Amino acid sequence: MDPVEDTLRRLREAFNSGRTRPAEFRAAQLKSLGHFLQDNKQLLQDALAQDGGLRVGEGRWATQLDAAFIRKEPLGLVLIIAPWNYPLNLMLVPLVGALSAGNCVVLKPSEISKSTEKVLAEVLPRYLDPSCFAVVLGGPQETGQLLEHKFDYIFFTGSPRVGKIVMAAAAKHLTPVTLELGGKNPCYVDDDCDPQIVANRVAFFRYFNTGQTCVAPDYVLCSPEMQERLLPALQSAITRFFGDDPQSSPNLGRIISQKQFQRLQGLLGCGRVAVGGQSDESDRYIAPTVLVDVRETEPVMQEEIFGPILPIVNVRGLDEAVDFINRREKPLALYAFSNSNQVVTQVLARTSSGAFCGNDGFMHMTLTSLPFGGVGASGMGRYHGKFSFDTFSHHRACLLRCAGMEKVNDLRYPPYTDMKVQL
Ligand code: NAD
Repeated sequence: MDPVEDTLRRLREAFNSGRTRPAEFRAAQLKSLGHFLQDNKQLLQDALAQDGGLRVGEGRWATQLDAAFIRKEPLGLVLIIAPWNYPLNLMLVPLVGALSAGNCVVLKPSEISKSTEKVLAEVLPRYLDPSCFAVVLGGPQETGQLLEHKFDYIFFTGSPRVGKIVMAAAAKHLTPVTLELGGKNPCYVDDDCDPQIVANRVAFFRYFNTGQTCVAPDYVLCSPEMQERLLPALQSAITRFFGDDPQSSPNLGRIISQKQFQRLQGLLGCGRVAVGGQSDESDRYIAPTVLVDVRETEPVMQEEIFGPILPIVNVRGLDEAVDFINRREKPLALYAFSNSNQVVTQVLARTSSGAFCGNDGFMHMTLTSLPFGGVGASGMGRYHGKFSFDTFSHHRACLLRCAGMEKVNDLRYPPYTDMKVQL
């Protein structure tokens, strides 16, 4: 095996084992690093000198008379690109952050949510200073052209596939990005649960906006026994929310496009339909559906579902669920249901995700005190509340020094006598 590959595998295994996490481990390693510097001071100084470095001490030269502070400044011209699924919210919430930090903004709404795109293009500019804001319309091609220009920040919400295109375009100008992406959000259901309470909450959040929500629980992990208890409870929750004929319910929306409808209809063929399963192409209707007996290799467990379909995958207990989750890309959100706090905190401690919510769906994102964003394949950066302001600001490190007191500064000037080096 390639030695670099071998090293990386070893380090990743060590990380996955959890040994770098306890505070004692981190403190011990930092202490050892301190010893390395202390024990090898001469060796390091000689090495630095041989490499052409200066013999200079590391004294702290700033004094109490200096003023150190962080100045949050606007970044400049920022681009916000939004998807179609919450076309207003996912445009305006970042805009509030960009505005409050003092930036000029280009807004690029989704071409798929046409009505909202029209309102944003025609009505919003009447309310904002047109010299500082612009709405640019278009799909992939126009957005690609827009991305060739230099921006000071790009805030993108959408799929991981397009996120990579945005990041590659931004890299050409060294433009920093926030990527708010999607993925498959696991939902672990422990045996120690009230199945009806879990079913109400999971069904509500899975079928909300017809399942077209980036933080929706994407699939359930539970034991076969819990599955048997959950299925009638999910059926009962679905009937309670949408009636006996969900297609005629005013509380259930439709799939956004024919393309998405066909993709979702294809996913209905995975595993076995336990609840729902009906579809109507003329109406872009897909019934709230639960699938069982799905295999990990089937498309429904490979791609983000983004529709009203909930697969259940069987696992034997917490360890297997955690392994299943950790084998996959880090999700935007992770949910764990249990009457036992210990189980919930175990899932939290042994996994990684953009956000975590115990015993509910995406309630965490309603709190502006919490940052919202992904990790790994589900994105980078965070916003909401104060985090939005910080995202769209440059945190400029500033130090204002006293113009006098030159005697103190003398210490840092050459020649570096032994006394100065000791300091
Ligand atoms: P998308 O990535 O297809 O499109 C998002 C935006 O990118 C649109 O404005 C679109 O015009 C533009 N775009 C599309 N193709 C492009 C290309 N080739 N080059 C440049 N720009 C291009 O996403 P979508 O289908 O609109 O939205 C669904 C996805 O968004 C899902 O993956 C969902 O999980 C994710 N999402 C994430 C969040 C979040 O907050 N993390 C919120 C909502 C949706």
